[in-house]
Formats: sequence, structure tokens, C-alpha cells
Amino acid sequence: MSAFGKNKENPLRYVKIKVAAESHIKIKDKNPCIDKCENKPCTYYCPARVFSWSGEKQAIKVDYSRCIECGACPWGCPYDNIYWEFPPGGYGVHYEI
Ligand code: SF4
Ligand code: SF4
Repeated sequence: MSAFGKNKENPLRYVKIKVAAESHIKIKDKNPCIDKCENKPCTYYCPARVFSWSGEKQAIKVDYSRCIECGACPWGCPYDNIYWEFPPGGYGVHYEI
């Protein structure tokens, strides 16, 4: 059975993201990511795959242009290390039907 119900229509097809010039998501301090956070849960609980670990830079990369504004990231980080706010007015998620 389709994950999207009887009509098999993906509801996310209507979601559009207008990307602002600056990120609305910030890693507060890179040190907990390197020194303490073994499993880096932000890289898998974010449904939009905004966060990824760069071994080369020893830092979490934040692709804020993918954010669907679910609001989970500040709660999911075990070190309270993610600052998140809504994008500025007129930017971020909207729906085109
Ligand atoms: S969950 Fe928090 S502390 Fe862990 S890697 Fe992500 S931002 Fe860093
Ligand atoms: S608000 Fe949701 S979609 Fe956006 S970065 Fe945080 S967890 Fe990912």
C-alpha cells in the first residue's frame, strides 16, 4: 500500500521552499559535536536531512535550504547545541496548489 493513502499522491509535491539569504539554523558551538556527541543524532532525526557530518572539517554542515520547519532540531540535540528559528517573513515553506 502507498505511504500516501488511496490516491497515491505525495502531499509534499505542493511544498515549496523560498530560501532566505541567511541561515535560520545555527550550530552554537562546534566542540560538543566533536568531543561529546558520539552518535550525532541530528544527522538522522531531521526528516529533511539538513544536517550532515563532515569528517574533513570536523563539523556539522547545515543545509538550511532543505528545512521543512518541523521544529524538532532544538529538542533532539542532546547538548542543546542547535539554534533554530522560523525563516524571516516571506521565506521558508509555503504551498503551491
Ligand atoms: S546532535 Fe547536537 S551536539 Fe550532536 S552533532 Fe548534532 S548539533 Fe552537534
Ligand atoms: S526544523 Fe525540522 S526539518 Fe528543519 S532542520 Fe530542524 S529538524 Fe530539520
